[in-house]
Amino acid sequence: MQRDSVLSRLRSGAEVFDILVVGGGASGLGAALDAASRGYRVALIEQADFAKGTSSRSTKLVHGGVRYLKQGDISLVRSALRERGLMQRNAPHLVHPLAFVIPNYSRFDHWFYRIGMTVYDRLAGGLSLGRSESLSRAETIEHLPTVEPKGLAGGVLYYDGQFDDARLAINLAQTAAAQGAAVANYCACVGLIKEQGRVAGVLARDVESGAEFELRAQVVINATGVFVDTVRRYDEPGATPLVAVSQGVHVVLPRQFLPGTSALMVPKTTDGRVLFAIPWHDRLVVGTTDTPGVQAELEPRAQTAEIDFILEHAQKYLTTDPTENDVLSVFTGLRPLVSRGTKGNTAALSRDHTISISSAQLITLTGGKWTTYRRMAEDVINQAERVGGFTPRVCRTAELRIQGAVDPATIRSDLRIYGSDAAGVIALGQKDPALDQKLHPKLPFRHAEVVWHARQEMARTVEDVLARRARALVLDARASIEAAPVVARILARELGRDQIWIEDQIRTYTTLAQGWLLGGARKVPNQPEKSR
Ligand SMILES: Cc1cc2nc3c(=O)[nH]c(=O)nc-3n(C[C@H](O)[C@H](O)[C@H](O)COP(=O)(O)OP(=O)(O)OC[C@H]3O[C@@H](n4cnc5c(N)ncnc54)[C@H](O)[C@@H]3O)c2cc1C
Repeated sequence: MQRDSVLSRLRSGAEVFDILVVGGGASGLGAALDAASRGYRVALIEQADFAKGTSSRSTKLVHGGVRYLKQGDISLVRSALRERGLMQRNAPHLVHPLAFVIPNYSRFDHWFYRIGMTVYDRLAGGLSLGRSESLSRAETIEHLPTVEPKGLAGGVLYYDGQFDDARLAINLAQTAAAQGAAVANYCACVGLIKEQGRVAGVLARDVESGAEFELRAQVVINATGVFVDTVRRYDEPGATPLVAVSQGVHVVLPRQFLPGTSALMVPKTTDGRVLFAIPWHDRLVVGTTDTPGVQAELEPRAQTAEIDFILEHAQKYLTTDPTENDVLSVFTGLRPLVSRGTKGNTAALSRDHTISISSAQLITLTGGKWTTYRRMAEDVINQAERVGGFTPRVCRTAELRIQGAVDPATIRSDLRIYGSDAAGVIALGQKDPALDQKLHPKLPFRHAEVVWHARQEMARTVEDVLARRARALVLDARASIEAAPVVARILARELGRDQIWIEDQIRTYTTLAQGWLLGGARKVPNQPEKSR
């Protein structure tokens, strides 16, 4: 994936694309890949980096949605469980089964969740990741060595999927590019071109150079997450908002707060949400919250009340109480929930996806979840075929392997996230042993990875490397700030940048990463969430 050549292709004006996708998160990348693999001429533009928005800030679960089961939404759960199985099959280097344990402090809870998880297993059918089972008190403690033992009756074990969200996004972009799509980051849609009352393309801006140019397409898909209404207003200035935005925060802790290989699932917090403590890349990710009424923005900040809420729950369920001093990183994602006239309670809105088509034929895809990105893409491209008057073609993505797909057992463990591309990273280190050095003693990433990110994964900034390709910002925000200068120097060499660029990158990244440290949280009075 070479950005310069993609940009020349886009800016040449020589092509009228069949399908142009705006937005490079899970929804947009999935749509671009689906369309390209059906043989359409496809372009995708992303205003920042791939997965800069919600798609790098998820709980990292590939799941049917246990809470939707509680809401009785069986078809949503069944369809998501099928997608879970397909995701694991098509991107095995990034998606793997994970054992979850629900600790029960009452017999009623035990049977309630035991029955629920049996239904969950059955709905997964042949794509089940493992059978759920009842655990005794001792077995529960074996799985969750630091779970609060006081009053513990037993537990319920079940299996779901876990993944690396931003890495999957990068691999989806690469797969779409390999299928012929012109995929560019740092390229924003700043307006729509309309001809005879119909959307005929977009006005795009190359964010790096500031140059604006027209991109023409038969069909335009708006997959801009929490920003869909901005793009919809380029089409219909008075359009009523489609999405409500709610915020979800995660706190990252050292792994010793929950050793072992199982995740802890708290089925009911004070606001009725599920809370997870999940081992991920040798850290513990704890979350999430659900704070309605927030603004759509690219770098949302956690609120102090949300952090307190997560830490208080973690303290309730773990024997060693994590405190603010233990927090390595805090990340915040925005939910683009499709508003159905409900106000104030976003937890009650559907996570299922919505496709809306304006009178000028702008297609907007929103809602859903990472797990169902492929299905959402299939649905939206079916609609795009109708809108574009194309003869329908068969969707191929259920069988399509994602870039890097390989049995992870065959890959060196520290490079497993690259799947089959690990060989390329290793080769860089073998050719130049200086590249085999670690970026930082507290981070598991090497210089060679940065080179790989620049050459093969369209990394343009220090943030692209440390936030989404090597997940340093999530694993340890402070260490990632310390690693920024070396990353900036490697990138500058690869991209032909000067010392001024290096200094600017270090400054910009440091400011951003400070927002992922506890001191970066926003103090907002009278938050709706309280401790349990
Ligand atoms: C806290 C939280 C936890 C979650 N956990 C899970 C989970 O564990 N499992 C799961 O399956 N799902 C989960 N989800 C849901 C899932 O993450 C989202 O549904 C999904 O990432 C949304 O992807 P998207 O592509 O629609 O939006 P985004 O990822 O936000 O992508 C939209 C993109 O459009 C770009 N854009 C915006 N405007 C423009 C423009 N004008 N021009 C060009 N580009 C533009 C943005 O920069 C952005 O990158 C979670 C969501 C949240 C908030």
